[in-house]
Amino acid sequence: MHIGAKALAALLGAALAAAPLAAETVAIRAGSVIVDAAAEPSGPATILIADGRIVSITPGHGEVAADRTIDLAGKTVLPGLIDLHTHLTGDPGGDFWKEATEPDEWDVVVGAKNARLTVLAGFTTVREAGSGRETAFALRRGTAEGLVPGPRIIAAGPPLAIIGGHGDTNGFRPEVNELLDRGFTCTGPVECAAKVRLASQNGADVIKITATGGVLSQQGRGLEAHFTFEEMKAIADTAHSLGLKVMAHAHGARGIELSARAGIDSIEHGTYLDEAAARAMKASGSVLVPTLMALQGVSEGLGKGVYTPVVEAKIRAVQPLMDSLVRRARQFGVTVAFGTDAGVYQHGRNAEELALMRAQGMSDREVLASATTVAARVLGMESQIGRLAPGYSADIIAVDGNPLTDIRVLEKVGFVMVRGRVIE
Ligand SMILES: [Zn+2]
Repeated sequence: MHIGAKALAALLGAALAAAPLAAETVAIRAGSVIVDAAAEPSGPATILIADGRIVSITPGHGEVAADRTIDLAGKTVLPGLIDLHTHLTGDPGGDFWKEATEPDEWDVVVGAKNARLTVLAGFTTVREAGSGRETAFALRRGTAEGLVPGPRIIAAGPPLAIIGGHGDTNGFRPEVNELLDRGFTCTGPVECAAKVRLASQNGADVIKITATGGVLSQQGRGLEAHFTFEEMKAIADTAHSLGLKVMAHAHGARGIELSARAGIDSIEHGTYLDEAAARAMKASGSVLVPTLMALQGVSEGLGKGVYTPVVEAKIRAVQPLMDSLVRRARQFGVTVAFGTDAGVYQHGRNAEELALMRAQGMSDREVLASATTVAARVLGMESQIGRLAPGYSADIIAVDGNPLTDIRVLEKVGFVMVRGRVIE
C-alpha cells in the first residue's frame, strides 16, 4: 500500500486527537517504602504518580491531589524486580523436534501467557535472552503498549552462534537444520560483526551470543569456547560502537575468560568459573548472571524422560558446580546480577532465585540490590528503573514483611505496577 503525504498527515492528525489530553494521577498510600536496596524502610509514605512516572514520595498519608488513590497501608512498597535472563516465548521441557512443528506465532502466544505470570511474580523488567526472529520484539511492543499484561522487555532476538553450536538448530537431518536456520550463525570476525549490525537493524536492544557449548542443546561437543577470541572481540566492539551491550552464554572456564577479555559485558551461567576466569571478569568489569534456577528447574526433570540422554549427561555434570558459583565469583570481587533463565524452568518462579543466591553467602540486602539497582546498571537504565525516586518509571511492587530481613517475602508479591499501570 502506498500512502500519500496528505493522507499520512490526516492519519497522524487523527492519532494525535485520539491521545489522552491529561494523564490520570495516582497516589499510593504505602505502609512503608524501600526506595532503594541501600535504604531502610521509611514508614508510612505517599507516592504520587503521573504519566507512568513517580512525581514525589512524601512522608505520611496526608491529603494529596490525585485522580485515584491505592491503599497499600499494610504493605512494604519497593521497586519492581529485574530479571536479566528470561525466555518468555518458551516453556520448559518439551521434545526438541517441536522446533520443526511450532511456528513463531505460537511462541508469541506462549510468551503472552508467560509475560503475565512473570509480572504477577513482581518482575517489572526482564531481559529476553534469545528467542525466534521477531517473537520477543512483538511481545516487547505488546507489554509496552499495555495490550499484553507483562514486564518491560529488553530483547535480544535470536542469539549469535557458531554453525552447529548451542543456539543454532541441531539434531535434525541437514536439510531440516538448514530450513530452520534463523540466520544468526557466523564464522570469522567480519561475518560476526555483520550479524551484530543485522541484529541491531532488526531491533535488538542487546546482543546475545552463545560463547560456549550449552547444556540443553542436542550436541555433545562439551561446554568450552565455541567462538574464537577474534570473533568475540569483533562482536563486542561492533555492539559497543552501536551503543549495545553483549551478554554471553558461557559455561567452560576458558570460554568465560575469553569472553571477558573480549569485552563482553555479562557472563550468563558461568558454571565452570575458576580463578583465572574470575580475574579476567574482574579486570574487564564483566558481570556474572548466575541463573541458579535453571539448574534447579532442570534437576527436577532428571530421570523422568524429559531430556534426551546427551542432555541428561550434561545436566548431571554441571549440577555440583552451581552450588558454589556465586561464592566463587564474589571471592574474586566479580559483581553478581540477578537472572534466572526462566523458560528452562516454569515461568513465575523467578523469585525463588533470591533465596538460592542468599544460600551462597549474599545478604538479603545484597540479593535485593542484585535484582534492582545492580541489574538496572547492567541494562544501562540506572536513571530510570531499580529505585523509587521522582522521575523514575513507576515500576512498583508491594509485599507483606521486610525483604531486607527475609528476601523470601518477595516470593509472594501482592501488588504490581509497571510504567504506572496496575497489573490486574
Ligand atoms: Zn538462557
